[in-house]
Amino acid sequence: MPRIVILGAGFGGLFAAKKLAGVDAEVTVVDRHNYHLFQPLLYQVATAGLPPSDIAWPIRSILSRQKNTTVLLDEVIDIDVAQHQVMLKNDTLDFDFLIVATGSTHSYFGHQNWQTIAPGLKSIDDATHIRRRILTAFEKAEMTDNDDERGRLMRFVIVGGGPTGVELAGTIAELAHRTLAADFRRIDPRSATVTLLEAGPRLLSYLDASLSDYARRSLGKLGVEVRLATPVTDCDEDGVTIDGDRIESATVIWAAGVAASPAGRWLDEETDNAGRVIVRPDLSVTGDPDIFVIGDSALIKNRDGTIVPGIAPAAKQQGRFVADLIIKRISKRAAPQAFRYRHAGHLATIGRKSAVIEFPRFKMKGWLAWWLWGIAHIYFLVGVPSPLVVSIRWLWEYITYGRGARLITGVEQAD
Ligand SMILES: Cc1cc2nc3c(=O)[nH]c(=O)nc-3n(C[C@H](O)[C@H](O)[C@H](O)COP(=O)(O)OP(=O)(O)OC[C@H]3O[C@@H](n4cnc5c(N)ncnc54)[C@H](O)[C@@H]3O)c2cc1C
Repeated sequence: MPRIVILGAGFGGLFAAKKLAGVDAEVTVVDRHNYHLFQPLLYQVATAGLPPSDIAWPIRSILSRQKNTTVLLDEVIDIDVAQHQVMLKNDTLDFDFLIVATGSTHSYFGHQNWQTIAPGLKSIDDATHIRRRILTAFEKAEMTDNDDERGRLMRFVIVGGGPTGVELAGTIAELAHRTLAADFRRIDPRSATVTLLEAGPRLLSYLDASLSDYARRSLGKLGVEVRLATPVTDCDEDGVTIDGDRIESATVIWAAGVAASPAGRWLDEETDNAGRVIVRPDLSVTGDPDIFVIGDSALIKNRDGTIVPGIAPAAKQQGRFVADLIIKRISKRAAPQAFRYRHAGHLATIGRKSAVIEFPRFKMKGWLAWWLWGIAHIYFLVGVPSPLVVSIRWLWEYITYGRGARLITGVEQAD
């Protein structure tokens, strides 16, 4: 029986695995986490809007009905292409077909030491860490008599004006200016400052300029200070340096760069600057037609020469495509030659009242776009357990300006 190994149970890996349900093959899914994570809502966990269990589900339970599929909690260390073997921390797996879907991580553009100072948002641990940092800053500000220190604690800096930076900035501003407004006695959380730094000339650079401009103005209305063309040149425990200027801040969050997983190194394949493996039109690697790289770890172009974006729908489509291709090869039917990406649009939310959406043929902004964004995400959630519960909780948070998951957990609690 053919052995199909899938590395990573994110959007790409999970959708490949689901498509392989019932196929006459031994399917093994490996992930270093025991959960599948809905990353588009991570910022809600980081800003205390949703608990982690609303956006992550055990991979084992999602795939429990698939009798041909085994789930292993382990970490990929290397791949032996010639021997068709995957080296895990605790095991070695033989395969006939391999799907590498290990996603991406943050890039600090060579400043790895900034990682502990300015955490990025990629996993549940990152989100709860950022939530702890934000909430602890308010608690410490309530305790101090030193004005300078209070100012540093109540200034929040987000580096990077992509969708995650915009979402975080808007939501932190709402948290400070609305949700926490009545909770403290010595400080006024409404006086907190949220600064969004972007190295380029505009926010959400992949969108039409009018939508970027709208996002900047909407953030301004929420009280976010947006600084464009402002690259960070240094980052330390007390804040950031920009162009010789200083911003003192106890909470700096990194939303600036993405680097692919080490798939290129494991497979000894050519990559681009971001570490994405340059795959063939059918998503296989140049060295072996039975090894595929998909999602954020892969670089593939559309027919018009544009790059398929690193977003969830692209990873899902690639997962399904490769699974289908493998099914056809196993059953000796003609397999598709080239992956074709169907782009449904780009969306980003700005706080709870507005969003921007760019569809292939038209664009939208404002509160209607926000609702459409919400509906699109509920639709995204279909296929994972309890989408209705998450949707109802969202709606409740929206109506009440609540932040239901305002818990400080972990080490900084004891500081
Ligand atoms: C904060 C944030 C917000 C986002 N918002 C949106 C959005 O609104 N809309 C949208 O379309 N896209 C969004 N994205 C992008 C989207 O989440 C990614 O494009 C998508 O997850 C890529 O899917 P993937 O399968 O390639 O990787 P992932 O979904 O990242 O999955 C990779 C999996 O591989 C596992 N893994 C990694 N390395 C190893 C290893 N060595 N061993 C074992 N397992 C490993 C990981 O644990 C993970 O489960 C967002 C991303 C982030 C970080």
